[in-house]
Amino acid sequence: MAKTPPEERVFHGSPVSRGIAFGPVHVSARGFSAPDVYAISEAGIPYEKIRLEAAFNKTRLQLTELKDRIDEIADGDEGLVFEAHGMVLDDPSLQRKVEQAIESRKQNAEFCFYAVMQTFLEAMRRIVDPYLRERTIDIEDVSQRVLRNFQADVDAIVPDHQHLLVAYDLTPSDTASMDRSKLLGFVTEAGSVNSHTAILARALGIPAIVGLGNAVLETRTLAPAILDGYTGKFIVYPSGKTTDYYRSLATRKQEARKALEELRDQESTTLDGRHITLSANIEFIHELDLVHNNRAEGVGLFRTEFFLLEAGEMPTEEDQTATYTELAKRTSPHISIIRTLDSGGDKLSAEPLTEPEPNPFLGWRGIRVSLDRTDFFKEQLRSIIRASAHGKVGMMFPFISGVSEIRACQALVQECMSELEEAGTPFDRDLQIGAMIEIPSAVLVADEIAKEVDFFSIGTNDLIQYTLAVDRINNRVAKLYRSSHPSVIRLIKMTTDAAERAGIWTGVCGELAADLSMTPLLVGLGIDELSVGPRELAPVRKALLSLEFEKCRKLAEKALTLPTSAEIYDLSREEANAAYPDLIEDAE
Ligand code: PEP
Ligand code: MG
Repeated sequence: MAKTPPEERVFHGSPVSRGIAFGPVHVSARGFSAPDVYAISEAGIPYEKIRLEAAFNKTRLQLTELKDRIDEIADGDEGLVFEAHGMVLDDPSLQRKVEQAIESRKQNAEFCFYAVMQTFLEAMRRIVDPYLRERTIDIEDVSQRVLRNFQADVDAIVPDHQHLLVAYDLTPSDTASMDRSKLLGFVTEAGSVNSHTAILARALGIPAIVGLGNAVLETRTLAPAILDGYTGKFIVYPSGKTTDYYRSLATRKQEARKALEELRDQESTTLDGRHITLSANIEFIHELDLVHNNRAEGVGLFRTEFFLLEAGEMPTEEDQTATYTELAKRTSPHISIIRTLDSGGDKLSAEPLTEPEPNPFLGWRGIRVSLDRTDFFKEQLRSIIRASAHGKVGMMFPFISGVSEIRACQALVQECMSELEEAGTPFDRDLQIGAMIEIPSAVLVADEIAKEVDFFSIGTNDLIQYTLAVDRINNRVAKLYRSSHPSVIRLIKMTTDAAERAGIWTGVCGELAADLSMTPLLVGLGIDELSVGPRELAPVRKALLSLEFEKCRKLAEKALTLPTSAEIYDLSREEANAAYPDLIEDAE
């Protein structure tokens, strides 16, 4: 009797790297696990120390090789992850601690190393700041690598044939060191969209889904599967119908990607001639290559908190000036808009607080920190102003809630300009100054703020969370985080209206700017600029080229009368689907 094939099973997760992949599954349920432990004699201590040193050295070498390899393949700064991993090992206190553990515990080096790292990791997992907590996986990664390097033969985690990897979680170095000719894609039970692993998967072009839940690990090795990195679906034992659908979808995607590349030199103008500036959001200067390759019309948001805070030590005014100058020069003749430090909230803190804030998103964040620390703030302002002598520079302030904050900022800008003038330092007195509109109170007084600035940049990531009282990083309430909520789109319209009355321009730099289903609505609401991640530039350009402004304007008028998020979303999406159906499939 013929065996009936197993039934198709679909897992849903968060897509982190686009693409469709077909292949047999390989399941690997690894983690940072304890090595064997055994006692050593007093005389054996020096030998264990030598083994420790050798494992560290071997790891350092591998990390340098990995960095070089990633630098060759990726356009951005992804390889820096491994440089940072190397720094963990370069901390002399770590080696000392492990050596002390070897001496006091009289146990083998790998176990002592494991014990020291576990204590450290436990402490890290308790950190409230999600960015720092996220770094735990990096430390685990390097720890695992060291442990493996104690063994003569490193066990391979991937098989020798082409496969889709199913894992509990992957570390950045797992991802980077995988053989691309064998690895067709990966899915993980855990993992987050903002992890380095996800960033690397995107940089390397490996289709990937994270957060599929624990049932995915029950998948059998060698089961046939399809990974849909667009929608986050992982389909095991796909039916013939599903397979046919995905085969033809994969072909269409390939053709669409080629077509998108051909459009990159076109202006981002609608069919009826309304030009929308299409600029890029970046966190690191290294991303500029990708920005240029995708022909952005400037940098609409340079988030400075990573550059200023990640190194642990604030860069000097000279260092800051050098970075902003490089940005200005390389983006020339287009504008580079530098956002002043937005620390706090879910981001790194500018300075350690004596106790954690009970409600960091409503606490000491953004411009509040800068206005309380004017020495540092003025250094950043002077650096930005100095860079304006070398290219078109703009600056904007985050977390503005009302007019007095913006006036306080402007007064400090004037003070800095006078100081620079006195010192004979050249700069552009007309550099554009803007306010981020991301707190509802700022929208309500947008007419007043508009009198003080040259532009508005709507930070929808925060505007949505503060309008709807939905934490932007809390998965439990993720479904309530609706960019198409009637309140949100009314606030956007109030902002563009206020800007128009004052004769200034309005951009959107939150993630919503790259949501292709919502592009018709944003265009119709009168947005002048969209600022998106470098890889989103091509699809957003295509969307803009396919839309008619007049149609979008009418659509927005109608949307403003609709009572629910779902109705507004459907209206915009329908138009998007009519204008660029191929891209909408992508975003599904
Ligand atoms: C926003 O809030 O939309 C924004 C662009 O800023 P960030 O995501 O850095 O808070
Ligand atoms: Mg914000």
